[in-house]
Amino acid sequence: MLAGLARWLRAAGYDTALAPTASDDRLMLAACRAEARVLVTRDRHLAAHADESVRLVLLDVDGLDAQAAQLTAALSIDWVRAPFTRCLLDNTPLHPATPDERARVPPRARDLPGPFRACPCCGRVYWPGSHVRRMLSRLQQWQARARLARDT
Ligand SMILES: [Zn+2]
Repeated sequence: MLAGLARWLRAAGYDTALAPTASDDRLMLAACRAEARVLVTRDRHLAAHADESVRLVLLDVDGLDAQAAQLTAALSIDWVRAPFTRCLLDNTPLHPATPDERARVPPRARDLPGPFRACPCCGRVYWPGSHVRRMLSRLQQWQARARLARDT
């Protein structure tokens, strides 16, 4: 339900697991407990069935910007914590791209200042092209808004 937000949390550098669509609530809660994860959900039913052993944030707003703001208020997220250090697809920490991995970057992007990073799990290579820069500026916006909300 929150796949979009999960992707952005990974972009900010947070270890973010995404539950499969048809997960069993009890198994999901047990996994959160075992891995000491905060459960972020839109599911009121699930939230009502969790006990205090799982830290839970119930999001009840629509839209990515609003969800990010609500999450930030609940967990003081640092959206510029370690941008683009985790794979957006599978959450694996990235490593500096090897020469072989860098060779997979499109020619027009090879001269960028970097960093060039790669995912050891799926092999995806990340570089600071326009897409990453656009995402980064949105993370910075959220961070600025969070700072403003804390200061007022
Ligand atoms: Zn990956």
